Amino acid sequence: MKKTLLLKVNPENPDSTKIEAAAQIILKGGLVAFPTETVYGLGADALNADAVLSLFEAKKRPLDNPPIIHISNVSEVYTLTKEVTKKAELLMKEFWPGPLTLVFQRSDIIPKVTVAGLDTVAIRMPKHKVALALIEKSRRSIAAPSANLAGKPSPTTAKYVFEDLNGRIDAILDGGPTLIGVESTVLDLSVDPPMVLRPGGITFEALKKVLGDVKLHPFVEAETELPIEKIRSPGMKHRHYAPKAEVILVEGTISAVTSKIQGLADSYLIKNVKVGILATDETKTAYKADIVRSLGSRFNLATVAQNLFRLVREVDAENVDVILAEGVPSEEMGLAVMNRLRKASGYHIVKAE
Ligand code: AMP
Ligand code: MG
Repeated sequence: MKKTLLLKVNPENPDSTKIEAAAQIILKGGLVAFPTETVYGLGADALNADAVLSLFEAKKRPLDNPPIIHISNVSEVYTLTKEVTKKAELLMKEFWPGPLTLVFQRSDIIPKVTVAGLDTVAIRMPKHKVALALIEKSRRSIAAPSANLAGKPSPTTAKYVFEDLNGRIDAILDGGPTLIGVESTVLDLSVDPPMVLRPGGITFEALKKVLGDVKLHPFVEAETELPIEKIRSPGMKHRHYAPKAEVILVEGTISAVTSKIQGLADSYLIKNVKVGILATDETKTAYKADIVRSLGSRFNLATVAQNLFRLVREVDAENVDVILAEGVPSEEMGLAVMNRLRKASGYHIVKAE
């Protein structure tokens, strides 16, 4: 077991000696967790194959699911990729730094392990002072998947990184809770029109405004597991965001959803099954269950996204057997929320009517 160093930093003005210490770890091939504006990432030198391999091991991540490469300067894109199109340049100008990951044809300098043997690479520039300072200080492109054990909800605070990875990584830069709360949007630019492979911090609506023509991969809104031949992003193959408890997602109009959830809760409670409910501000007082928590207002889906993974972890920590989650509209940040909830439920979706 490793000794995991905890380095608390001011997210707005990170202490340069702590960033320097973390950068030295990256340079030596070690693993550092750090905050981004989306969720915490677990970083390794992207061009050091051994470091990236140990990153997969620490997370117990399947080797076929490549991480995103985080950069601090657009010039890095030109060395990591084969071709940067006008569309890519437009998107980088519009959304970077920020929660948009772009998939390009990769250049040959990237080790195979970093891209899981694919001929494409996923890159983004995070909008967080700690992340950018770490990349700049180490003068490396940093491969960083979310800093959780594979299959668990992504961590939105350093505490959750510690719970999953203490003893398995070299250091955690603790910069407080993350702002967006779900991961970046992954947009595939190796196809035309560009295709969203994972909804996230940049909404589909915002991409449409800039690109005009852009598609959603059918997986983004899928309500069942997709057949293997339809998979375009390796991450689509794996179980995700799953707490210990069984998750059931209930979708429909708000009144139908509340009565369906209470009906399900009652049928479990009578059998002594411990029930947690992920409600919203508008519905939380309507429920009776062991634990009821609100994700925020249905009219503020960015807040719902921000709270989602934290509340899934908090309710799970109460050792409930079942989590009943309310669906929200699949628009703006709601698309990312619904994508995560559907996956967390293993597609156990109940339609309320
Ligand atoms: P995470 O870093 O945990 O947020 O996961 C990164 C996501 O990016 C996963 O869903 C990967 O499958 C996806 N990804 C990484 N590289 C590529 C690529 N070259 N093509 C498509 N998706 C990718
Ligand atoms: Mg992840």
